[in-house]
Amino acid sequence: MYIDPHIHMVSRTTDDYQRMALAGCVAITEPAFWAGYDRSSPQGFQDYFRQLTDTEPKRAAQYGIRHHTWLCINPKEAEDPVFAHEVIALIPSFLACESVLGIGEIGLNKNSRNEIEILEAHLELAAKHDLMVLVHTPHLEDKLKGPRLIMDAIRNQGKLDPGRVLIDHVEEHTVGIVLERGFWAGMTLYPDTKCTPQRAVDIFEMHGTERLWINSAGDWGQSDPLAVPKAQLEMRARGHTEASIRKVSFDNPLAFLSQSGRFKTA
Ligand SMILES: [Zn+2]
Repeated sequence: MYIDPHIHMVSRTTDDYQRMALAGCVAITEPAFWAGYDRSSPQGFQDYFRQLTDTEPKRAAQYGIRHHTWLCINPKEAEDPVFAHEVIALIPSFLACESVLGIGEIGLNKNSRNEIEILEAHLELAAKHDLMVLVHTPHLEDKLKGPRLIMDAIRNQGKLDPGRVLIDHVEEHTVGIVLERGFWAGMTLYPDTKCTPQRAVDIFEMHGTERLWINSAGDWGQSDPLAVPKAQLEMRARGHTEASIRKVSFDNPLAFLSQSGRFKTA
C-alpha cells in the first residue's frame, strides 16, 4: 500500500490509474503545474482548476484511489505579474472544495524578480486562509540558491509554520538544509533526471526517514507513475524493514497531509 503525494495525472492515461491501483496506490495529491504549454489566458486556469477538482477525482475513484489537489500558477507561467495575479484571484473560489489541500506547487524557475513577487503573493494567500504549502524547487546549476530564496520568502512571510510546508525535488545537495530549517522534504523519482529510486534510498540511508517522502511526479514528460512502488522494491532488496518502507511511502505522507484536515485514504 502506498500514497503518491505528487503526481500530475492530468497528463496521464486512465490505464495509469489502473496500474497504480494494482501496485497498491490508495491516494494521491496533484499539485497544479505547467501543462506542457503556456496557457493563453487566465480562463485556461479556471478550466484547469475544474479539471483538478472535479474530473480527476472522479477518474481516480474508478480505481479506488483518493485524489486531492493543490492550486496555484506555476513559476514557469508566472513571469507576467498581471496575468499571474489574475490567476491567483481565481483560487479562493475553489477553496471550499473538499479535495483542495493548499497552495502548490509554487516556487521559482529562473529565480527572477517577477517569480519572487508571485511566490510571495501565493504565500500571502496561504497565510490568509491557513493553508498548507507544497513547493517546487528549481534545478539550476546553483542548486542551493533557489531553495534558499524560497525558504527565506516563507520565513519572511512570518505566519507560515515550516511544519506545514513541504519542499519538493530535494537532492543530495539540498535535503540537509531543508530538514534543518524544520520543513518537510520530498524526493521526486525520475527514470534518469532528478532523483532515481536508487539515489532516494541512498539519501534515506544517509539522512534517515523523518519528515521525508518520495513521489513520482509522473507528468507530460518522460516519467514513471510507478516510481514509488519501484523505490519500495529497491528498499526491500537492500534489506530495509517493512516498517521503514511503509514509513516513507505511506506513514510520512499521511502524517504531513493529514494536517490539512481534508486528506483521506479511503
Ligand atoms: Zn510537479
